[in-house]
Amino acid sequence: MVDQTPPRIIQLDESVINRIAAGEIIIHPANALKELLENAIDAKSTMIDVLVKDGGLKLLQITDNGSGIDREDLGLLCERFATSKLSTFEDLSSIATYGFRGEALASISHIARLSVVTKTKDSSVAYKAYYSNGKLADSNFKISAGEASPKPIAGKNGTTITVEDLFYNAPARLKATKSKNDEFIKILDVIGRYAVHSEVGISCKKFGDSHQALITRPNLTLKERIRIVFGSSVANEIIDFKMEISEEARDLGLYDCFGAITTSNYVNKKKIQPVLFINGRLVQCDPLKRSIMSIYAYFLPKGNQPFVYVSLQINPQNVDVNVHPTKKEVRFLNEDEIIDIVSAKVHSLLSKIDTSRTFKTQSVLTREKRSTTGVSIGAETLAIEDIEKAPLKKYRQENKLVRTDAKQFKLHSFMNKNTSNNDTTDSNERVDVQLSSIVQLRQELVNSNHKGLTEIFNGSTYVGIIDEMRRLCSFQFGVKLFICDYAATLNEFYYQLALSEFCNYGEFIISESISVREILQNLYTSDCSPSVDLEDVVERIFAMKDMYEEYFKIKFDQDNNLISLPMILKNIEPVVHKLPYFFYRLGANINYEDERECLQGIMKEIALLYIPEPIANEPGSTDEEKALNDAKRDVLDQELENRVFPSLQQKFIATSDLLEDVMEIADLPGLYKVFERC
Ligand code: ADP
Ligand code: MG
Repeated sequence: MVDQTPPRIIQLDESVINRIAAGEIIIHPANALKELLENAIDAKSTMIDVLVKDGGLKLLQITDNGSGIDREDLGLLCERFATSKLSTFEDLSSIATYGFRGEALASISHIARLSVVTKTKDSSVAYKAYYSNGKLADSNFKISAGEASPKPIAGKNGTTITVEDLFYNAPARLKATKSKNDEFIKILDVIGRYAVHSEVGISCKKFGDSHQALITRPNLTLKERIRIVFGSSVANEIIDFKMEISEEARDLGLYDCFGAITTSNYVNKKKIQPVLFINGRLVQCDPLKRSIMSIYAYFLPKGNQPFVYVSLQINPQNVDVNVHPTKKEVRFLNEDEIIDIVSAKVHSLLSKIDTSRTFKTQSVLTREKRSTTGVSIGAETLAIEDIEKAPLKKYRQENKLVRTDAKQFKLHSFMNKNTSNNDTTDSNERVDVQLSSIVQLRQELVNSNHKGLTEIFNGSTYVGIIDEMRRLCSFQFGVKLFICDYAATLNEFYYQLALSEFCNYGEFIISESISVREILQNLYTSDCSPSVDLEDVVERIFAMKDMYEEYFKIKFDQDNNLISLPMILKNIEPVVHKLPYFFYRLGANINYEDERECLQGIMKEIALLYIPEPIANEPGSTDEEKALNDAKRDVLDQELENRVFPSLQQKFIATSDLLEDVMEIADLPGLYKVFERC
């Protein structure tokens, strides 16, 4: 049972009063509503009902079933700085609920007719009281000579606060308010956000309407609440999370962090202000919002907007709510560090999801609905996840480091290609492989052939890249148009090439020797290292040096410098900046004890090394960087058209796993008909 004994209200010292920043400002009915809602939640209610007339300007009524207010406290209720939530200035900074300045009801009573009906569980009757300018008043809201006193009436446990004629004596404010409808939308927005955050049931109704504009029952799950407030399209694509708070985070004052965010599968063009709660209060924190949004920019197609709900518990002593008169925008100590921690979490959630990509049949042109499950190409980010445990900012820097180094590496290293091996497929001196594991893997591949899909790929005509960030391209087969996930498709295809050309790869000769240790070094920094020790990784690779050379054309010189890499498809280069991860996984994840597992594992790593990366403009990228990305996209488009698809048409065996990654979007005669009608 929740203790519903009401805390007693005491008046704050003059000195405390003087040290409190400027009064609360109520600009919109929604500001008043928010305060009243917070009070009702603070009073440990389980159900709160809101009634609104004329956008809250005529009537705002909040009924709760919380602790109620003691009769003796009703006289002080609307005095400025009357609060049951703190008594000394020290408390001001340590109070857990921080709509705590005892100003809300007082301010409202100065600009509206405010009345209260309240009953505590220990009282046999309810009391009704009227307020004006902070004082108890008579039922006409007049402050008469004699003392007005609360009247006993019948009523239920809890409190009803009625605010009528808001801004009746503040014509300037009244003028500044928008239409009644706009004000109502604002109110509904605040209520919806609290309904998402709080397990308290909340309802909201327009006066005169028979239906509720919004209603949640108590104790719904977070997902159910999000569904009610923001709709199924959001709720269906949500991942909720609760962070494990590390020792360091705790030292920074972050005590708890949980929430729910949409994945990159959520398609939405409308901006939704993030639902951000700090210590139980709906707030704004622009730096945090910006940081989270910049992460989404990596994962979402341009123009797409996420839904984000984050709730933080921060050491109340560290939170400064006085930066904004309505307490909307907050600041807290160690803000940068805490934002980095939260952002890193969002980043790792999104990248995990992104690697098990799903296709959704969103196109209106789609004729039949397909079931959609994800195909995992998760291994690609294994090593990345290792370093993701560090705060994002550091991770970003490291990531850049890897990229920059790799870029230089690329410029000088691949100039000199082994041209004698013209096409890796029709080399004259082919080695005939009799290894039983390879023979077996090839047989398994043939068995997993999906005839229909293979036929489609073999007869395909490449059309073009549709989305270089999500790695989607389209191709035509007969009169039908298909979308395909080229990352997933090439993951399979490159593995198949690695398997069929096993022992017979071409090679890329690296002109400038570079040690594997040096390549790996990028992943090992003082702040965040992958789990397996650098020396162990290097040692495990070199122990298999001969095998790498003979089977895979991964060659090292006497000083253990890398001198060549496999070429599995003519003129298609590996993605050089994946090399640190590539070697890390060869050294850390391959099982060298089992022949089949070992060879298959390495071939899968080789496939990953070749999958083109998503191309995305990072937020704030310069024109030069954007131009570079455009160029990258064009190069990739050419490669897919001239090298990859022709090869796919000849040799690809599509497995049923790939069914999830290819989707028919239209048949052309149908499409032409659609256009004709337009
Ligand atoms: P604050 O919330 O900052 O304390 P308010 O002016 O909002 O200041 O409220 C003053 C006091 O009135 C609160 O501290 C609380 O004790 C009491 N109170 C207000 N609303 C309610 C309610 N719905 N149920 C119980 N007590 C309430
Ligand atoms: Mg309050």
